Amino acid sequence: MSKIYDIIIIGAGPGGLAAGLYAGRAKMKTLIIEKGKDGGQIAITHEIENYPGSLLEGESGPSLMERFSKQAEKFGCEKVYDSVVEVVLEGDIKTVKCKNETYQAKSIIIGTGASPTKIGCPGETELTGKGVSYCATCDAGFFEDFEVYVMGGGDAAVEEALYLTKFARKVTIIHRRDELRAAKSIQDKAFANPKIDFMWSTVIEELKGDGILDHMVVKSTKTGELTDVYADEDDGMFGVFVFIGYKPASQLFVGTGLEMDEKGYIPTDDQMRTNIPGVYAIGDIRVKELRQVVTAAADGAIAAWQAAKYVEEQ
Ligand code: NAP
Repeated sequence: MSKIYDIIIIGAGPGGLAAGLYAGRAKMKTLIIEKGKDGGQIAITHEIENYPGSLLEGESGPSLMERFSKQAEKFGCEKVYDSVVEVVLEGDIKTVKCKNETYQAKSIIIGTGASPTKIGCPGETELTGKGVSYCATCDAGFFEDFEVYVMGGGDAAVEEALYLTKFARKVTIIHRRDELRAAKSIQDKAFANPKIDFMWSTVIEELKGDGILDHMVVKSTKTGELTDVYADEDDGMFGVFVFIGYKPASQLFVGTGLEMDEKGYIPTDDQMRTNIPGVYAIGDIRVKELRQVVTAAADGAIAAWQAAKYVEEQ
């Protein structure tokens, strides 16, 4: 624990990396701590059409995030890959204890994001990675010419279903209601795609298979009727991709004095300030309506600018 940073950013998603860029350019001694790989959710998103300026040939979530990372590093932002296990947020000097090292800073920016919600049905855990997936970019290639099912009706589910049609023989969207939540433009593409089918007013009750997913039980949300769905005999397996929302990664901050809402999202003002002086929250972990790369990046810029002001006034 040799030096005290001006700003520690927890999480290297689009928000954290944008904060790193702005903090570095403001000449703050800045450290980003990331437990996995840079980019957060966007590192597992195949196509990124709605970040302004990202219409480059072959642009993907990971390629965009790689440029975000390089840009933050160019301006002197340090980065370590470690898991944060405990934080002390109150007081003038904040402490971030990781598995391998403990760090201190005058200010903290929290950008820990959110992770996929699980169905919570029998068989899901056992068959994850054996037919059940939460990431089309990671696993679509395993289902070349197979049948896949996508659970959910939001932007993520429908966009990823469209992506999966490039690999799978047939993609069936299983949605608990009889109309999609996804943006109209995304819905239109799905309805026009001959490879996409729909199972309306349906949820998955159980996932089955001996080492590989080959059978599931679905339930009608209208009648409660249960139906068995089996893999095609020649295939012997099928895929289930789950996109039913996300959970905030905020467990770490329980009991630290940081305010959170009932779902675990962190409320901030429009300057990303939390209830604790010198502590800011950005990106998907924040209470907000539009969780996008562009809004996360904007949050990061605002938080870094505010944190720099806070550090200078200390
Ligand atoms: P979302 O918009 O919250 O949609 C979740 C979907 O899952 C909804 O259709 C919901 O059904 C369904 N669902 C939730 N819990 C369920 C359960 N227990 N069983 C069955 N179905 C369940 O989540 P998202 O699609 O992951 O998107 C999250 C955020 O990221 C949104 O703000 C979205 O706009 C954004 N996003 C944007 C893009 C883009 O613009 N390119 C791409 C991906 C995500 P109901 O509709 O019945 O509630």
